[in-house]
Amino acid sequence: MRKVLSLTQDESLRARERHTTNRIPLVTTYNPRTSYIAEVANRNWHFLQSKERLAHICRERPIIAYRRSKSLRDILVSTKLTGRTPEGHTTTMGSCGPCNKPKCSWCVLINKTSTFTGTRRDGKVFDIFHIVNCQSTFVIYIIECRICRLQYVGKSEPAFNLRLNNHRNHIKRGVYFCELSEHFLHNSTSHDFGKDVTIAIIEQIKQSNMTIERKKEILRAREIFLAKSAEHIATERS
Ligand SMILES: [Zn+2]
Ligand SMILES: [Zn+2]
Repeated sequence: MRKVLSLTQDESLRARERHTTNRIPLVTTYNPRTSYIAEVANRNWHFLQSKERLAHICRERPIIAYRRSKSLRDILVSTKLTGRTPEGHTTTMGSCGPCNKPKCSWCVLINKTSTFTGTRRDGKVFDIFHIVNCQSTFVIYIIECRICRLQYVGKSEPAFNLRLNNHRNHIKRGVYFCELSEHFLHNSTSHDFGKDVTIAIIEQIKQSNMTIERKKEILRAREIFLAKSAEHIATERS
């Protein structure tokens, strides 16, 4: 934060140069006591460099990343999948894709798909029931980091592209707004939000006969439910 405050407006608006990396992510579940993993990895790095064969295999230090561990919410809310279609759903197959509007910066990153797979161990495949794109409202989305294969599940009441613009602005301005911006800010030398993500809209609350309040309520419940399929992005603390 201090670094952000010392920048002039001009400096903070300038695009930072980014590099891609082949560094291997070392992903573990976050726990306040496991920050020593990064410390141990760094402290013993010289050992891996001391033998020629090892140095050849381990050329670059791994990126230490943490997945979010179970929260109280995960424990308290049922994770059982029911066969019922949730309220506000159609039963026909849908798909997620680009809006193809000129100047849309998100079309290239939107996954053209009719299913999505959670990165959680069981790797469950889900169907997408709605026809949705970057302009859709009242949606649940998944943003997957292509480098760490961790996912962020979120919801957007306004048009989805506006929500994505918010995420991009937070990362650009160094604002630690959510787990997603934290992940990209903590890994800013190796991660580029404009390139290293795969985005999918996985669900929409469509019912026009519902009050806005009811739609918001359902959207929130669906976000909690669907977030359970993902191996979450959490903050890197090293
Ligand atoms: Zn678009
Ligand atoms: Zn990542």
